[in-house]
Formats: sequence, C-alpha cells, structure tokens
Amino acid sequence: MSLERMAIGIMLGVGEDPRESLRKAKEIGVDNVQMGVPPDKYLEGEGLEELRSALKEFGIKVTTVFCGFEGESYADIPTVRKTVGFVPRERRAERIRKAMKISDFAKEIGCDRIAAHVGFIPEDPSDPLYGEVVEAVREVAEYCKGNGQIFCLETGQETAQTLLRFIKDVGMDNIRVNFDPANMILYGVGDPIEALELLKDYVVGVHCKDGKWPTEKDKLGHEVPLGEGDVGIERFIEKLKEIGYTGPLTIEREITGEEQKRDMLKAKALLERLRDRG
Ligand code: MG
Repeated sequence: MSLERMAIGIMLGVGEDPRESLRKAKEIGVDNVQMGVPPDKYLEGEGLEELRSALKEFGIKVTTVFCGFEGESYADIPTVRKTVGFVPRERRAERIRKAMKISDFAKEIGCDRIAAHVGFIPEDPSDPLYGEVVEAVREVAEYCKGNGQIFCLETGQETAQTLLRFIKDVGMDNIRVNFDPANMILYGVGDPIEALELLKDYVVGVHCKDGKWPTEKDKLGHEVPLGEGDVGIERFIEKLKEIGYTGPLTIEREITGEEQKRDMLKAKALLERLRDRG
C-alpha cells in the first residue's frame, strides 16, 4: 500500500484494545499512522496475529513504530534528562534489547521504520555519556539494518547542530530524522525552520505538532492545538515543500479523549489546506 504525497496521518497510541485505537484513526479519516509501541502481549504470538489482522481489516498502514521505554518521564527538563532514551546508564542495556524487539515487531507488521527519543544527547562531545549514547544508537541501528529498516531519531531535546554531529558520529547509513518542530520549541533549543534546513537531508518523517516556548527555567513549554503555537505551521509546511519532502504529515496531539479527536480533525483540515495550495 503506497501513500499519496504528504499523506496525512496521526500518531496513535495503542492501548489494551488495538481495535479501539485503530477505530480512532478511522474516525479522524486517515489511512496511515505512526504507532506507539503497543503493550508487550501484542509484540509476538497470538497478540501479534490479532493486531496484524486488525490493521488489515481497518486498512491502516503503519509508517513508523515509535519506541517507548518503561521508566521514562517527560515531567520537566531535569527528569527528561535523567529518564529518557539511552542516556540513563542503568537502563540502557534493557532498552537496547527492547528497541531490538520493537524492530522485530515492526518487521512483522510490514513496517520499515522505527523511531525513538534517544534522550538528551550531551551538547559536549567530550562528555563520556556522548560516546556511550553513540554506541547504543549504533547497536540499535545495526539491528534495524539487519531487518531492512531505518532507525529514526526524534528531534527536540538537543539542538539541530548536536543532532547532526551525533548522526555523523554514529556513522550508519540507515539513521534518519523524525522531525518534530514543536519539540524544538517546547525544549527551547532553537527555531524549528532553521533546524529543518540543517537536517533536511535526513528527514523522512515529521510530527505536525505545535507549542509555546518555555517561560520558566527547567520547565518545558506547553503543547497547543496545531496552528495556535509558535511553530508557524504555515511556514513549516512551506519549508517542507521547499526541501522536497514528500513523506507523511503525522499529526501528533499529546492529550487524550474527545478534545484530542477534535484537535486532530481541525489539524487535518488545516494541513490539507496548506498542503494543497499552489
Ligand atoms: Mg513528536
């Protein structure tokens, strides 16, 4: 199943009942999703079969499976620094194994991409943690390569310059970027449009999400409905066209329930308009 140019999709969290989650995608009216990693029982065996047949039944293509790890918290910047991705030493080995398992799962559902927040990549490459995270990401990327997959790094917790240096230091040809313009703002790390220019050769996925700059030290900014934040979604889509991006536009709205659905429907209408104008 191939997608149209800049096909609009959503970021879909899959809970205990995958059918209920997939129904949500249908209600929004999209045929492709980035899927948050489902509960363990769906990663193999009977659960996997159940999920696979539900995807088929609903006619939904999973463009990326997103890794999430036990023990991660996005409460504030120091907590993100301590808990997210491959940065925390005590959880690194277990998370590398989990990422490999997710890669196998993605392959089973016909998806050639996984993605992750790798954590706060130290800005200073002489920080020992920097080299450790490079190694961890290389290990996961090598595994993905064996499965014929791309490993995408989600933007946001570091500057675009740091991410670019990091990708070069990992040195694998299947590392790409899932560009989330709102994260650049929420973490206060730089203008997303300038960052997109810098990372353009690596961007194969995007999150259409919006946010306001942080106003307090150590706190994240706050996420808002698409078009109401500081990203400048119009210039974001223009810039994507300028760099020749044709991949999916994946709406991400990190709230739940009816409000999420409403915001996603509005975001879809906004993106269709911006995508289709001359
Ligand atoms: Mg995102």
